[in-house]
Amino acid sequence: MNLGENLRRVQERIVAAAERVGRDPSEVTLVAVTKTHPPEIIRAAYELGLRDFGENRVEEAADKISKLPEDITWHMVGHLQSRKAALAADLFDIIHSVDSVKLARRLDRFCAERNRLMPVLLEINVSGEVSKYGFPLADRDMLGAAVAEMLALSHVRIEGLMTMAPIVSDPEEARPVFRGLRELREALSARFPQVEWRHLSMGMTDDFEVAIEEGATMVRIGRAIFGPRGTG
Ligand SMILES: *Cc1c(COP(=O)(O)O)cnc(C)c1O
Repeated sequence: MNLGENLRRVQERIVAAAERVGRDPSEVTLVAVTKTHPPEIIRAAYELGLRDFGENRVEEAADKISKLPEDITWHMVGHLQSRKAALAADLFDIIHSVDSVKLARRLDRFCAERNRLMPVLLEINVSGEVSKYGFPLADRDMLGAAVAEMLALSHVRIEGLMTMAPIVSDPEEARPVFRGLRELREALSARFPQVEWRHLSMGMTDDFEVAIEEGATMVRIGRAIFGPRGTG
């Protein structure tokens, strides 16, 4: 694996995708997803200039974060159980996967104790797959009520939305999912103008270019940078 070469290719593809639709590539943050990879690999990516890293398990992240430079922005991208909210409040700089008011409340409580403000994204299940976490896209009333409740929390701040597209053979098939998230953001901005809905976290190795064309501001990429997982 040539990390530098992989990274350069991914960055070129991000720029090309943004330019295809007239977007400024600097609007798109590359979050390098490092789950299963050891701290040495993350440090190598850091040396190449990356500062945004994503993990999907709290315990695994805790071990790595303690071994890596402090100027890294750590993104929690995986499902977060409410009972791990305290540890997450210690470790992460932003949480992409808030999928219940209960979790938001617990994060708020632990962030208040730590005197910190946590940026969060609301995870949305756009595709409706039962295997996926997130607020169901179709239930706007439920989502609206959840947002209203979260606005009362002083130590979590909603900054946008996140979704995971279904696994498909052709990335074009994921486009309606990404478009659905963008349209939801438009509806929520109209209903909750007091929230700055700046982020759409969408797009992974197999579909990030389509996600950028549809407005992604954060792409979460693992394999295209670090190679396949679980082969060492
Ligand atoms: C693993 C993971 C990614 C990255 O997936 P790749 O296919 O390796 O790019 C992105 N988002 C979440 C939530 C993940 O768990």
